[in-house]
Amino acid sequence: MQRRDFFQGSAVAAAATLGGCAAPGVQAPRTSFSVAGTYIPVVGSQQLFPVRRIYCIGRNYAAHAIERGSDPTRDPPFFFQKPTDAIQFVPVGTVPDHPYPPLTKNYHYEAELVAAIGKGGRNIPIAQALEHVWGYTLGLDMTRRDLQNAMGDQKKPWEIGKSFDRSAPLGPIHTVAQTGHFTQGAIWLKVNGQLKQNANLNQMIWSVAEQVSKLSEAFELFPGDIIYSGTPANVGPVVRGDVIEMHIDGLPNLSVKVV
Ligand code: MN
Repeated sequence: MQRRDFFQGSAVAAAATLGGCAAPGVQAPRTSFSVAGTYIPVVGSQQLFPVRRIYCIGRNYAAHAIERGSDPTRDPPFFFQKPTDAIQFVPVGTVPDHPYPPLTKNYHYEAELVAAIGKGGRNIPIAQALEHVWGYTLGLDMTRRDLQNAMGDQKKPWEIGKSFDRSAPLGPIHTVAQTGHFTQGAIWLKVNGQLKQNANLNQMIWSVAEQVSKLSEAFELFPGDIIYSGTPANVGPVVRGDVIEMHIDGLPNLSVKVV
């Protein structure tokens, strides 16, 4: 059994908290089907982090914005979403298979810091924004670049390029108490041992605090939301057989094999 399925299946009972109204001893609602929730293991704990929404920031490093054809001095970063069940959980020290998705001939990696929200809110001031961050991990915003570009050219939504099955591999969550907040530090990605992306978190256009603040102006945030904070420059393709390894200072590396 895939670990992802295990973690999705193991806490299905928690789906009984639909609407936040379930109390101890209250029966789960009768549903037409069983629909698995998505949960991320928390390091050093038996608890799982329940995922509500996945937000992603686009063009949050100037050099990447330029390589994607926009002008970071004129166009601010922006948000899009992936479906929650796009998560592929990657246990530390393992190299699980990551399926090459259908329809693409140009499948790209994007290495990103991921912030996990523990306290919701609207219009959160930057100065208080980090109080809403519960933990961090690292993840890949996998992208069908050819489909993303084709949709962009036609002024259509990016969905098919960004929001497909298993497009969000990520590691376990480390609580802020364990790691502190991430404002600087190396972020890099290798393919088959070759360095491809190499930058510093302090090169983000919007810091994590600014991301939380900006995002909360557009959407009410809730516990369980996670934010992929954007990728540095030098995104590029992988093919079947490639091993992707990514690193952020202060977190264990994450690896997957494209199959
Ligand atoms: Mn990205």
